[in-house]
Amino acid sequence: MTKHRSTDAYTNSIEAPTYQSASYYFNNADHVKAGLHDRSEPAGRYGRYSNPTWIEVENKLSELSGAESSLLFASGMAAHVTAFLTLLEAGDEVVLPSESYRQVRNVFHHILPKFGVKVHEFSIRDPDAFVANIAALRGKIKLVHLEMPSSPHMYLIDVARVREAAGPDVLLTLDSSFSPPPNFHALRHGVDLVLFSATKYLSGHGDIVCGVASGREELIEKLRWYRDTTGPITDGNTAFLLRRSLYTLQLRMDRVNAMGLEVARYLEGHPAVDRVYYNGLESHPHHKLAQQYLNGFGGVITFELKMTEEQTAAVVDRLQVPFMASNFGAPHTLVEQSTFFTYFEYSEEELVSIGVPRGTVRLALGYSNDVTAIIKDLDQALSHVQGQA
Ligand code: PLP
Repeated sequence: MTKHRSTDAYTNSIEAPTYQSASYYFNNADHVKAGLHDRSEPAGRYGRYSNPTWIEVENKLSELSGAESSLLFASGMAAHVTAFLTLLEAGDEVVLPSESYRQVRNVFHHILPKFGVKVHEFSIRDPDAFVANIAALRGKIKLVHLEMPSSPHMYLIDVARVREAAGPDVLLTLDSSFSPPPNFHALRHGVDLVLFSATKYLSGHGDIVCGVASGREELIEKLRWYRDTTGPITDGNTAFLLRRSLYTLQLRMDRVNAMGLEVARYLEGHPAVDRVYYNGLESHPHHKLAQQYLNGFGGVITFELKMTEEQTAAVVDRLQVPFMASNFGAPHTLVEQSTFFTYFEYSEEELVSIGVPRGTVRLALGYSNDVTAIIKDLDQALSHVQGQA
């Protein structure tokens, strides 16, 4: 076997090839000098540090978010953890919303305090109170982490007011997994670093797990050192699938935005439904913020049934179209009964404190499903149980 690989003659391929390699070779000592020592020539070195397919999708992600630079990670959680480990040090104080994604809260409450970080948590249910809590800590805090919309209630945050209250030097990170561009452009509103679980809408096929951080070059370079060192990276094939998915992001978002409004309006008009949480409905407590910040409201709808947990389970069991599963942004519609799935370990008290009654259902619309079929399915499931009651 020769040590040289064959040279690719098809350099006019419209789509760049997918690089799947753990390491990159140098031709001779001069090549090492140029590629590694002086960096006068771009050259790969080792698969944990870089990969041309990552770089290509990272450039596209920067374009999408209007960022100077982006990094790809093995998961949304890997992007979050790398950001916090990079940006925080012992003695720092941070703020996060009580409604943040459960595992992000776990990082703040069970990992960061081990390294001397002090955590303040406030609810975003009342956006004014959230801003006031941050203003009260002005001068003390290093970083505010935001997430919007939150799950399951789709609460929003007045990001510009948070920036103003926190002051210009505080780092603002924002988890935009539920509201990727084109629905929301976090970096236009004073956010320093936008984080995504690209497992969701960005990849949009329910077939890969990955994460993204986008922001100013200077911040991203700091995160890069941590990624290079600690290794929460993905492979070329996952980067290829994400790159391919980005071509259809706008199409997919347009479709679920339209489906979301239609299904939310249907649910709101159904007598068995107590409340619907969807940013596009005027009844959503943060509808005004939605109009201010969002260009579309996505495909996730949470609704509360006027039913016990058992009755709600019977409705969910009767649904034919959605899979009973946790995720969103995938081609398939997914349904979860919140107190059975995400919050099954929570006590009654905890459920009351987070405002999730036993009749809560989260529906994540899949763009491959027909919206009429979804509504028909909901109708048969809801009317059947109503008839029995
Ligand atoms: N942020 C939000 C809002 C999420 O819903 C999730 C996952 O469900 C994550 C972050 C973590 O992303 P991943 O599952 O890609 O690690």
